[in-house]
Amino acid sequence: MNSRENFFISLNQVNCRINDACQNCGRDPGEVKLMAVTKTHPAEAADWAVEAGLRHIGENRVQEAAAKRPEVRQAGGFWELIGPLQRNKARLALETVDRIQTVDRLKLVSALDRLCGEIGKESFPVLLQVNTAEDPAKHGCAIEEAEGLVEAIRSSEHLRLEGLMTIGELTEDPVRIRATFRRLRELRDRLERACGLKLPELSMGMTGDLELAIEEGSTLVRVGSALFGTRL
Ligand SMILES: *Cc1c(COP(=O)(O)O)cnc(C)c1O
Repeated sequence: MNSRENFFISLNQVNCRINDACQNCGRDPGEVKLMAVTKTHPAEAADWAVEAGLRHIGENRVQEAAAKRPEVRQAGGFWELIGPLQRNKARLALETVDRIQTVDRLKLVSALDRLCGEIGKESFPVLLQVNTAEDPAKHGCAIEEAEGLVEAIRSSEHLRLEGLMTIGELTEDPVRIRATFRRLRELRDRLERACGLKLPELSMGMTGDLELAIEEGSTLVRVGSALFGTRL
């Protein structure tokens, strides 16, 4: 992992990339939030991020997040689950993080809703993960399933849908990667019209493809290696 000093230098570079991308497409950099993805790194990583003013902390495994969060000294982080969620970890996830970005199937919607009722979460924020890369190996619902899931979340008692999340296609081809992000934005626009609700958050873009995601409308880029160095 990067040293603390290197983290702050890297953060500057990432912020420059975000600003340049915004400038290229005429967006206000204030519309794009930066999440620090701290998976595999110690609690210190989250401390540095929060100290630097980054609010969103991303973890992809529930148990790792549950072990790490109590060790963090800096208060004020908003922790988010960005990795696949099994139903047997749903309760721990709700008790550990502040938002779940990886809701992608009906059974998970009903399990989370029931558990929220049991543990007293009134209006728990979630994103719907959509597999816009149409990669069978990836998590996320199919584009055609999204509307049904949006309706299911909307009619749940305790979940609040704030937007959509996707992972860029695993390829070197920027045209194809960009297409994954564009499909998420277009889907969001269709869902807003079809369901008559607002889905403001578009979580897309990582270290390798954040510029493309920003140009296609990302409101939250999830960055790990560009901030903390390569993971072991
Ligand atoms: C690990 C991870 C990231 C961050 O990846 P980097 O390439 O290190 O920036 C973003 N999103 C998800 C879902 C991840 O699992």
